[in-house]
Amino acid sequence: MIAPAIPAALPPSPPLLRKLAILADAAKYDASCASSGTAKRDSAGGRGIGSTEGMGICHSYTPDGRCVSLLKILLTNFCTYDCLYCVNRVTSNVPRARFSVDEVVRLTLDFYRRNCIEGLFLSSGIIQSPDYTMEQVVEVARVLREEHDFHGYIHLKTIPDAAPELLARAGRYADRLSINVELPTADGLARLAPEKDGTAIRGAMGRLQAHIDEARDAARSAPARRAPAPAFAPAGQSTQMIVGADAADDRAILATSAQLYGRYRLRRVYYSAFSPIPDAAAGLPLAAPPLVREHRLYQADWLMRFYGFAHDEIVPAGAGGMLALDLDPKTAWALAHRARFPADLNRAPRELLLRVPGLGVKTVERLLAARRVRRIHVDDLGRLHVPLARVLPFVTADGHRPGALLDSDEALARRLRAPAKAQQADLFATA
Ligand code: SF4
Repeated sequence: MIAPAIPAALPPSPPLLRKLAILADAAKYDASCASSGTAKRDSAGGRGIGSTEGMGICHSYTPDGRCVSLLKILLTNFCTYDCLYCVNRVTSNVPRARFSVDEVVRLTLDFYRRNCIEGLFLSSGIIQSPDYTMEQVVEVARVLREEHDFHGYIHLKTIPDAAPELLARAGRYADRLSINVELPTADGLARLAPEKDGTAIRGAMGRLQAHIDEARDAARSAPARRAPAPAFAPAGQSTQMIVGADAADDRAILATSAQLYGRYRLRRVYYSAFSPIPDAAAGLPLAAPPLVREHRLYQADWLMRFYGFAHDEIVPAGAGGMLALDLDPKTAWALAHRARFPADLNRAPRELLLRVPGLGVKTVERLLAARRVRRIHVDDLGRLHVPLARVLPFVTADGHRPGALLDSDEALARRLRAPAKAQQADLFATA
């Protein structure tokens, strides 16, 4: 039998610190602003200072590129939904807690004043109804902005089924909004999150994008001496996809991301490797996918956004649908297209230089700027601190032709492969 998400008579509310521990821990599965993984270290017991294990603070980037620390919590981990991959689902047997609006406001202001954070990332399980939950989330942001004149960064996780007016209000107070698409395919969503509606998720993303565009146009056309037009989520919207909870391959995941970037101009798609949760539902994989898969997806995502790659070039049809784990996707593409190389650093177009393994966007811009006034010599690559072992087999420049480096595809691939790693360090590992 499914237990009610919130008992009719609420149990006595745990003290604030206990609630903070529960609701910061419950928020850690949301990758939308997660810190990168690292080894477990802890100063409990008075040994040293600091800890990598505590939850509750994450990092995000503001529209002007600053990295900010955010208090990352749920308003509540009670939830009426039963998304199988989620530790907070109604059938999960975990300690529950709920903050009041006032408690989240106080915590945010207290941490902010103590210089621990520069903003708030707030998400929530769904209680009573999507509208009720969204109202509570928006109210936190409203009180912070209007009653406390809070100028810090606010990222609100929105609920796609909530009324459009509530999503519109959220955008007036938040810097960034996000709606989780959750799973890469409609089939996966129907199977693992039966109460969620893929059409509603995309509809909400479309409405948010329309508001963001309107606000941006109004800001551009506002007369210089008038008050600036009201902002709407100036840091845009983002989403998260869980990787490895269903059978979707990397090709399907990247196709979904490409569609989301193209259609809703999302700032980021976050990939969250499914991690087996306590009290997991049957039908979920027993083991997490290798975290390096998540890393390869981020690299592929970067190639689509900044390097001019189409998603179906990165994982072409018939290639098994998965990114190589032992080669980064750009190197894998270059090895599969050896006929396009070597690229002449003195003549090749920008588009081809961007496809050279080891050359980043900034390096390519510097090479293009330099070659307007002089020729590029291989020694310039050393001065640019590029990884020579990866770059040299794919380029020519004064003083360098790949020559002997042009060995067979397999020999070159062997040289460029990353050293085998059993498993990446995982900040959130449970065992
Ligand atoms: S709605 Fe959100 S919090 Fe609730 S079970 Fe689904 S993913 Fe978890």
